[in-house]
Amino acid sequence: MQLILHTFKLKLKHTFTITHESRNVQPTLIVELREGNFRGFGEATETPYYGVTLEKMKAQLEAVRPLIEKYDLKNPEDFWQYISPYLQDDHPFALCALDIAANDLWGKKSGKKLYEAWGLDISKNPITDYTIGIDTVEKMVEKIKEVPFPLYKIKLGTKEDIKIVKELRKHTNAVFRVDANTAWDVEETIQNAVQLKELGVEFIEQPMKADNWEGMKKVYAESVLPIIADESCIVEDDVARCYGFFHGVNVKLMKCGGLTPAKRMIAHAHKVGLKVMVGCMTESNVGCSAIAQLLPLLDYVDMDGILLVEDHISTGITIDYGKVIYAAENGTGANLIG
Ligand SMILES: [Mg+2]
Repeated sequence: MQLILHTFKLKLKHTFTITHESRNVQPTLIVELREGNFRGFGEATETPYYGVTLEKMKAQLEAVRPLIEKYDLKNPEDFWQYISPYLQDDHPFALCALDIAANDLWGKKSGKKLYEAWGLDISKNPITDYTIGIDTVEKMVEKIKEVPFPLYKIKLGTKEDIKIVKELRKHTNAVFRVDANTAWDVEETIQNAVQLKELGVEFIEQPMKADNWEGMKKVYAESVLPIIADESCIVEDDVARCYGFFHGVNVKLMKCGGLTPAKRMIAHAHKVGLKVMVGCMTESNVGCSAIAQLLPLLDYVDMDGILLVEDHISTGITIDYGKVIYAAENGTGANLIG
């Protein structure tokens, strides 16, 4: 396989603010694996919060270029086992981009979309939410009016979280889910859950600090809304740790190292009765089209990345009022434009 690295700066439609940071542009790395006329694409984004930069990811991949280029891809799982020991990192974003590219290439070579190759039925796919970042209440209302959607994920973690949700509720009947990105404490979470449930919120994502397991135990027992782990569930081993502390987990491809480990995490979570969501990280259509292949396995999905960026660097899925429509192309359906 030939390895080709591309970098882009995705321009965001709105300044995106969550508890950790605020930004206008999303730098991203697209990994291409080429074999004959087949081209597979994968993606990982620069994420300063985790110390992940384009330069770092490129250096990691350049270091394993000879191992990749001498490899004959038979299936993505074997490739992941082969290459992952060399790309282990607290935040295996480069491994993720490479694994998605390998899956995409394998699907295209097999003449199948990935979900078909995995034997999945897409008839009951969950719809995706549309994320409303933290802003003034007026701007958040504006965004809801600008993008009518059946399901919104509202980023919280301000001094007036309940007020925000009450105000947004006046403007839509859509289902809400909220993400506090670790901003609340135990009592706040338990009390907020009561009010949020009345406001039509279906679950709360990561209300408290990632390592507050003691607090989560209490919240798990007392919250009237399901609690989904995000910052507390990063890699495969975390799924087992979340059992009995959360009602579900949010799996992210970049945090766990790609589609291959994500599929294992989803299977493990369902086996122990945890709900599963997959979340995006403001990817282009390369990353979102990879997430889409997992839809039949998911209870919830947050993959509105392509609706939040201006740049359209790739073909792939489209989203129609929350419903994900697959591309005609095999693999993930993504191809770089130009
Ligand atoms: Mg989150």
